Amino acid sequence: MALGLRDGGCTARGCETSASGCHAHHDDPWSRGGLTDLANGRLLCPRHHRLAHDATYAMTIHADNTVSFTRRT
Ligand SMILES: [Zn+2]
Repeated sequence: MALGLRDGGCTARGCETSASGCHAHHDDPWSRGGLTDLANGRLLCPRHHRLAHDATYAMTIHADNTVSFTRRT
């Protein structure tokens, strides 16, 4: 699938999960002030996909299209 070809696996920084073990996640434009990334979608492994939907974590999208998660304080 297209996302697998583009991302090659989980897009979380430091995560080695390959595309076959990942889910497609759609970034939420509204939560980023209307800024959208290239395809508004990325691959995340189940663990990071859960964090992406966890309201207690903030997801930061970096210029190289990787993401990192920080716990909201
Ligand atoms: Zn991951």
